[in-house]
Amino acid sequence: HRTLDTALAEAWIRTAAAAVEDAERHLTALDTAIGDGDHGSNLRRGFTAVLAALDAPPEGGFESPGALLRTVGSTLTAKVGGASGPLYGQAFRAAGAELPPDADPAACADALAAGLAAVRALGGAEPGDKTLVDALAPAVDALRAAAETGATLARATAAAADAAERGARDTTPLQARRGRASYLGPRSTGHQDPGATSAALLLRALADAAAR
Ligand code: ADP
Ligand code: MG
Ligand code: MG
Repeated sequence: HRTLDTALAEAWIRTAAAAVEDAERHLTALDTAIGDGDHGSNLRRGFTAVLAALDAPPEGGFESPGALLRTVGSTLTAKVGGASGPLYGQAFRAAGAELPPDADPAACADALAAGLAAVRALGGAEPGDKTLVDALAPAVDALRAAAETGATLARATAAAADAAERGARDTTPLQARRGRASYLGPRSTGHQDPGATSAALLLRALADAAAR
């Protein structure tokens, strides 16, 4: 895949749904340590509904990758609940609104940046607060840097996924300042953030789909 077209958007989301299913127990275990133990089941429920939406597309199919991602966002908002549902829902809607029909790596970076901005506007998290932002922000930077060097979409999205995974791992020593984990204060340190972990998983799914 050289651009993020509708076919790749669908392949990404189907890959992400499968990855969420595989990671459900892991995400729930992370959220049991510093939250209420529902992050895996929340996302699983959301992506099950997303797959149903992809299986019942509008007449004539999704008109653009952006339209498909906006449907993903509204489905996640409706089904996931908790803190992560509205945050992921707004992120996919904002990214979908920004995405042109055949996005090259630079346009993908702009769309991901719009998703990150939506998360920050809604949740108020700064980098280092031990949230989704800690995976998404380095991913935006890596995607943009790769685009500037003329990288292919496969390489650029792989760089974004690598950066997101590093960002998620680097949440472990942090003290949470947003969301439920912040109620634990210093006891939130020493555990990887569940939402940063799922954000990295979603970006790895994009890289995997783009590489096929
Ligand atoms: P809940 O905490 O309501 O049970 P989830 O378990 O589904 O929701 O999601 C928890 C994740 O949501 C956290 O690990 C964190 O990454 C993310 N999160 C929570 N609050 C915020 C926020 N204000 N901004 C960004 N991400 C947040
Ligand atoms: Mg939770
Ligand atoms: Mg909850």
